[in-house]
Amino acid sequence: MTATIKVRNRDAKSNPHGQKKMARLRGISRHRAYTVAEIAERLHVAKGTVRRWMKAGLEPVDGEKPALISGDTLIAFRQDKRRTKQHCQPHECYCFRCRAPRAPALTMADYVPITPTRGNLVALCEECGTTINKLVPRAKLEALEAILEVSIRPGPIPINDIGSPSLNDHLKTEA
Ligand SMILES: [Zn+2]
Repeated sequence: MTATIKVRNRDAKSNPHGQKKMARLRGISRHRAYTVAEIAERLHVAKGTVRRWMKAGLEPVDGEKPALISGDTLIAFRQDKRRTKQHCQPHECYCFRCRAPRAPALTMADYVPITPTRGNLVALCEECGTTINKLVPRAKLEALEAILEVSIRPGPIPINDIGSPSLNDHLKTEA
């Protein structure tokens, strides 16, 4: 698991547009179906990984034993996964409603320290107003402040404050 994440990160750095990742689906044809073992072999992943994808929504062809997955379904599933892993620009956070990286509304964000060296960047999605956040190293704050108006909060936001409609107000009043 850890190894997979490391590989993904390295890919993302060397190729921010994910072209290398696309190449991993090249062995898969949209016009045929594959067993779990075939998918594992072609995509260079463990069979357990393919079974996990199936639990996570990769649908096998109805009534086939052993399970068969159509190339079409597999490609759609993997591309959807990839979308949820889109990489954010330094000032962007992933918005779970838009399902995309989004910049903070009004270029305003709060930095909530969690440890002396890192904290949570909290803002509102510029598209839909949903609360967005991500962990950022404190060392990156200066660079962020060149793009965003960052208010450094003294401590974690109380749980009942997160995602409440009043978040907008406190961003305005405390900015
Ligand atoms: Zn959004």
